[in-house]
Amino acid sequence: MSDNRLFTPDFKMQPYWWDAALPGIGAPDEIVKKVDVCIVGGGYAGLSCALELARNGTNCVVLDSKRIGQGASSRNGGLVSGGLKHAQTELIKDVGKDRATRLLKESAGTLPFLEDLITREKIDCDFAKVGRFSCAWTHRHYDALARSADFTEELTGLPVRMVPPGRQREEIGSDFYHGGQMAEGAATIHPAKYVGGLADSSKRAGAILLGQTHVTGMTRGPDGWRVETSRGTIRTDKVMLGTNGYTGQEAPWFRRRVIPVASFLIATEEIPPELARELVPHARGLADTRRVLSYFRLSPDHKRVLWGGRVGTTAIDPRESARRLRHVMTRVWPQLNDVRISHSWNGNVAFTFDFLPHLGEHKGVHYALGCQGSGVAMQTWMGYQTARMMLSRNSESAFAEGRFPTFPGYSGNPWVLPLILMWYRLRDQIERNWT
Ligand SMILES: Cc1cc2nc3c(=O)[nH]c(=O)nc-3n(C[C@H](O)[C@H](O)[C@H](O)COP(=O)(O)OP(=O)(O)OC[C@H]3O[C@@H](n4cnc5c(N)ncnc54)[C@H](O)[C@@H]3O)c2cc1C
Repeated sequence: MSDNRLFTPDFKMQPYWWDAALPGIGAPDEIVKKVDVCIVGGGYAGLSCALELARNGTNCVVLDSKRIGQGASSRNGGLVSGGLKHAQTELIKDVGKDRATRLLKESAGTLPFLEDLITREKIDCDFAKVGRFSCAWTHRHYDALARSADFTEELTGLPVRMVPPGRQREEIGSDFYHGGQMAEGAATIHPAKYVGGLADSSKRAGAILLGQTHVTGMTRGPDGWRVETSRGTIRTDKVMLGTNGYTGQEAPWFRRRVIPVASFLIATEEIPPELARELVPHARGLADTRRVLSYFRLSPDHKRVLWGGRVGTTAIDPRESARRLRHVMTRVWPQLNDVRISHSWNGNVAFTFDFLPHLGEHKGVHYALGCQGSGVAMQTWMGYQTARMMLSRNSESAFAEGRFPTFPGYSGNPWVLPLILMWYRLRDQIERNWT
């Protein structure tokens, strides 16, 4: 198919979200020379940490190599749930029932925490508690979702119900899946408006935000830290790392513990309202249960479809990732065969070797990293928890327990990832065809 039929004339290789909320440049000429806390990374984690510190009178600065919020926090799909990526049974096997329960309870609490923060700070970010429909890739996945429903309901205190294949069209205008699970509590958000609002709130509370300020190194001496940046040195008592899928050489111990994984999204041109209603009748967030999953939703004004997935491992050309995503999307929704793509973009998420987010302190560096691609609520919570830890010197978070594992020989370059993704895709396909 020719590019003219695939892409709109004003096709953009940047997040659809930036049309309404372009991250601010935020780089004044002067940089601050001395602060109590220096936060590296201006996404949800760094800003949420800054907000809590500043609200408690701590003098802090947030530094970002690019614009404040320009990382994953203004690029994501804006699906918000309080879940962990780790399957419940596996989690219990890995960390024991007690910690598993605390981890799951804490992560379920991240969504109400986010909602309270948005309300308290009056952040205008299209937050909508529309619920989430998890589309079962196979009959077995449907059964597994059914088995987890009661437990999820108990954890979140919010209704979860199964939608059998015969009633699937009540939730999604497609027969592609094998039914699914509806979780009332989940929400959607405009991620770039949210990160912009969080930045404004932190500033109002007293935090200093500096974009275009790349941290090149951090050294600790008897009189505190020297943080070297592309725009000069900052002296600070404490350092917080919120760099997630963009963690670089300046933090080698952490880089060995996070696996950056690219995730891709497209937005379609505007579609007729009746088609939007047919595709996603209740405007919920949707995701399927594949290992290499697709996640999708309508835009907040319900005029476009946003479709995301992991269709490559590095920053491939956005036109190519758009073609791949469109291919997957039109298998689910052939109704979109003649609809063009208006935006295509990608960003990095961070996985960890135990599939759990981690916060804590290592050799004086506080950190909140590794949300496994589900970080709108989680990284906001983790940043807040890290601030509480810095203020009180301890944390009650279950994410601060246990060691932060790495893998022998791994230095931060996940060169085996393409092979792993291929293997996962193959397993998805085998399961679909033979179970
Ligand atoms: C395409 C995509 C779709 C996603 N969809 C969803 C979704 O639907 N729901 C959901 O919950 N989550 C989703 N996520 C995940 C979510 O966006 C992230 O988990 C979350 O934004 C991470 O926030 P953060 O603050 O930890 O990191 P980020 O927002 O990534 O911020 C890290 C920042 O650190 C900066 N940085 C790195 N190194 C340095 C340095 N040396 N000096 C200065 N600055 C530095 C980077 O520039 C970056 O801005 C998605 C992510 C992507 C990429």
